[in-house]
Amino acid sequence: MLIIDCPHCGPRHEQEFHYGRQAHVAYPADPSALTDEEWAHYLFYRDNPRGPHAERWVHSAGCRKWFNVVRDTLTYEIKAVYRAGEQPPPEYAALARPGAVAGTAPETTKEA
Ligand SMILES: [Zn+2]
Repeated sequence: MLIIDCPHCGPRHEQEFHYGRQAHVAYPADPSALTDEEWAHYLFYRDNPRGPHAERWVHSAGCRKWFNVVRDTLTYEIKAVYRAGEQPPPEYAALARPGAVAGTAPETTKEA
């Protein structure tokens, strides 16, 4: 059982939360300018690393707020928790780089 430290409520059991996919995936600034392949990459392609991964979670049985978690996909260890709109700690800054997902080049995206 994971204990997730909600940045608004404090530590709670994982069953109070829901996973919300990869964090820091910026919505394209002009979706109509994308090719079908670029749009498909935005919709369906996500990183699948062995190790630290930035994820969105919602405290659905608590404050109902979204926040971000850096979780190690090998050990399930939670490395960092931070509020939505914030950047991850410096050692995980690469997980939040714009355009990290193929098909969403930095010049065509805006921060989510
Ligand atoms: Zn909460």
